[in-house]
Amino acid sequence: MLITGGRVLVDSGTYLENGAVLIEGESIVAVGPREEIERRAGADVPRFEFGGTVLPGLIDAHVHLVFDGGPDPVSTLRNATDHDLFEDMRRRGEQLLDSGVTTVRDLGDRGGLALRLAADIAERRTPGPRVVAAGTPATTVGGHCHFLGGEVSGQAEIRELVRRNLAAGAGVIKAMATGGGLTKDGPKSHQSQFSAEELAALVEEAHAAGVPVAAHAHGADGIAAAVDAGVDTIEHCTWMAGDGLDFRPEVVERIITKGIAVCPAVSPHWRMLPRFFGEERAHAMFGLVRRMADAGVRLIAGTDAGVQRAGFDGLVPALGFYAHLGLPNATVIDMATSRAAAALGLAGITGKVAPGHRADLLLVHGDPLADLSALSGVHAVFASGLRHEPDSTEQ
Ligand SMILES: [Zn+2]
Repeated sequence: MLITGGRVLVDSGTYLENGAVLIEGESIVAVGPREEIERRAGADVPRFEFGGTVLPGLIDAHVHLVFDGGPDPVSTLRNATDHDLFEDMRRRGEQLLDSGVTTVRDLGDRGGLALRLAADIAERRTPGPRVVAAGTPATTVGGHCHFLGGEVSGQAEIRELVRRNLAAGAGVIKAMATGGGLTKDGPKSHQSQFSAEELAALVEEAHAAGVPVAAHAHGADGIAAAVDAGVDTIEHCTWMAGDGLDFRPEVVERIITKGIAVCPAVSPHWRMLPRFFGEERAHAMFGLVRRMADAGVRLIAGTDAGVQRAGFDGLVPALGFYAHLGLPNATVIDMATSRAAAALGLAGITGKVAPGHRADLLLVHGDPLADLSALSGVHAVFASGLRHEPDSTEQ
């Protein structure tokens, strides 16, 4: 199929005006000036004519398909049977795809349901974004998200859980390095959970299989421990310490030199955060994200979709946070495309409109480099070469 675009985002912040993308099966085979690609494709190739912007499908690097994004996701999950839950997850996947998200990283499910959905989508039994799933997140006994079933203690149990997730098809291993707000009966967000030896064992086991590790870490101590252990991404990275914040430039330096990506997983409703954390603390936390960006930390976009107030159509509003911080639109789009793909181990597979990549494409009406909110003006979505037809009248 030949897809034309008034502009095609071919590189960071770079449009090709009057471009075209040729796709065969699930892959992009050529990208270039419209006339050139038309000539190459021949007259018989099916066409999808569009005058707006063609860009890579978006990547949400932090979702939880098992949670409903309502006021009490944990209770809702506890009361759901696996059968009903799986149907809900399938619907959430479609909602992500409707909003232009063609890849997600699921950072913690129950009973391997996200891994099952990932396989269903990959084998085209159901529409949805590509899912890189962690399976059961490793936590301490009674620790953050213990209700997902991943309570482990000591190196042997940790290695066993990692191996179980890998055997079930996990594309990333998730470790809860600190507590979290979602788990009311667990450690506080700033408190560390695992010992240095336990974290090191988890990373070693995952890396031996060539699978990256994502560490949930709010507390400054937990962040430092995750960096020492050699994780690949740090989730949240809010530098909490008791009631205050403890930003550590020397740890940030190591995050950069080790090439660790940071996913702040800021809520789509980030504008409400000052109401929850207090005006001063929220703005201090926002400022630290900007400081990490300025220092050269590789930030990637994620929404924590599924937790309180974070729905499955929130990536674009969440990206607004980074524009609010003053990051250039081109950088923000990279955070949700090429950069996220690299952090997920999917460089060369998705995140770019380039030959050899999967045809994961988002077609929007406006110009997102000029105005990020144009990413919400979805005209069409292609996932691995297949056009997703949303149940909308907009087409
Ligand atoms: Zn999360």
